[in-house]
Amino acid sequence: MQNIRNFAIIAHIDHGKSTLADRILEITHAVNASTDNKQLLDSMDLEKERGITIKLKAISLHYNLGGKEYLLNLIDTPGHVDFSYEVSRSLSACEGAVLLVDATKGVQAQTIANLNHALDENLAIIPVVNKIDAQGAEVEKAINELEGLGFLASEILQISAKTGQYVKELIEEIIKRVPPPAPTHTDLNRSLVFDSLYDLYKGVVTAVKVADGVFKKGDRIKFLATNTETEILSLYKLTPQILEVASLSAGEVGFFVTAIKAIENARVGDTITLKNQSPEALAGYKPAFPVVYLSLYPIDPSDFLPLREAMGKLKLNDYALEYTAESSPSLGQGFRCGFLGLLHSEITIERLSREYNLDLIATTPSVNYKLLDGTEISKPSQLSASTQEILEPIATVEIIAPSQYLGKIGELIHTRRGVQLGVENIADQIKITYKIPLSEIITDFYDELKSRTQGFASLNFEVTSYEQVTVSKLEIFINNDPLDALAQIVPSVKAESVGRATALKLKEVLPRQQFSLPIQAIIGGKIIARETVAAFRKDVTAKLYGGDVTRKNKLLDKQKKGKKRLKSIGNIQISQEVFTALLRK
Ligand code: GDP
Ligand code: MG
Repeated sequence: MQNIRNFAIIAHIDHGKSTLADRILEITHAVNASTDNKQLLDSMDLEKERGITIKLKAISLHYNLGGKEYLLNLIDTPGHVDFSYEVSRSLSACEGAVLLVDATKGVQAQTIANLNHALDENLAIIPVVNKIDAQGAEVEKAINELEGLGFLASEILQISAKTGQYVKELIEEIIKRVPPPAPTHTDLNRSLVFDSLYDLYKGVVTAVKVADGVFKKGDRIKFLATNTETEILSLYKLTPQILEVASLSAGEVGFFVTAIKAIENARVGDTITLKNQSPEALAGYKPAFPVVYLSLYPIDPSDFLPLREAMGKLKLNDYALEYTAESSPSLGQGFRCGFLGLLHSEITIERLSREYNLDLIATTPSVNYKLLDGTEISKPSQLSASTQEILEPIATVEIIAPSQYLGKIGELIHTRRGVQLGVENIADQIKITYKIPLSEIITDFYDELKSRTQGFASLNFEVTSYEQVTVSKLEIFINNDPLDALAQIVPSVKAESVGRATALKLKEVLPRQQFSLPIQAIIGGKIIARETVAAFRKDVTAKLYGGDVTRKNKLLDKQKKGKKRLKSIGNIQISQEVFTALLRK
């Protein structure tokens, strides 16, 4: 155990994590530099090998320093804020972390978020400035910022992950500065699950760090949080090739292939023990819970069953995905889905479309609220009054940007009902902390922040509480018929502006009809905004000159085709494309 080093590389996105991992793999001869295995940790596809689907969550490497052989376990962490709970669990499998800062960008929001996770886990942290070879590298500035975070200039390394310069030195510093796994209990067996995945042939595979004792093939094991019993069918390490092993002992990192069939029972953060033991769970388990909700409806109603099947399959490998069937007068049958964040929802919709060939309508993302008695609600129809007090999720947001943008960021926050909690300087940058309703940041907030700061600001957030707010049930009527898909829960102070913006947007999107088309935003029977789509005066073909019959026929043909994909709202019909555009914010 004295020769084991478990570590992760943490960084803001694009600061060079994957590139550094590749260099480390080459230097430790895990892969050959001459083969073009670029970005191994991200994309290596071992599916063909033994029919197992693998994310390279932990790679075991060997390195000789001063005549002594060391086992280095490089543990990968998810790169996005949506998966911050999984980041913290991956880090708890480590004793150290390399904190990478891009010399051309400096410290950014995820640098700090990841650093805080690592500090929470009491890891030894090695601060590293990367991309020293790059044009526009400002190494001194990056060093100043790292000093601003509490590091000493003398402990900060400078490397180029791209050219490999000083990466060997970094590996040796990892061995020197990261402690070996701590001494453990010898009288019990515990492993931390820091990732899990479902394999079609093998069932559930868990990435584990053994905290205490030894686990071996054939052991009857138990997951403490879900109280699920199973058997270890096999164990392996990735080098990065699969290397089956007979056992894994305290301090080691590897994979258990289990007989479990549902990933729900093998959750990240859970503790595995032997079946006949009942030790205390390892610290830190908390169930992941969705924060962003939206509804998915198949464009073709006959795709409902295929959609249900596809959701079931995705769920096998994604325990955080939540979905329940629902139906809507205008959209038909579909699912209300919960996600860890916007990216999580985008990945899921993308997979449904690409892997399962499903054409879907997604409603605008929203948050779930709670009634004052704690009951969770997701839809306007669950409100008992048109305006009432409920509880809304509140996020704590950290934004990092060059100081000159403080004012512009403040203005944005103000329009989003945010409250400033603090400002700190990190060399020439500022870190601003806000409390802000989650509903205000899940859609276009990040884009808006970027555009106000010329792309310099970065952001990290976490849902931290629920607070009371007065909301209204905003309904949209088109041609005097309510369109349920557009009804929403809005904070009452914003109801009027949201109502007006929605009506105006519908006016732009909706095609003209033979009659004038009223659009109304209504709260509790009271019209708060109104727009009208004027009737068109001439029929579609009228604008074509003369008697060009072929063109005329072509146009009519096109209309006929369009008809098949029409949706009705009350007594008007609009195309699928328009309908989808309606739902987009
Ligand atoms: P990740 O998102 O942290 O995994 O970042 P990547 O490893 O994918 O790197 C992001 C980009 O930065 C890629 O285009 C890399 O080629 C580039 N990059 C990474 N390290 C270096 C470096 O040391 N020097 C230079 N010039 N570019 C680098
Ligand atoms: Mg990467």
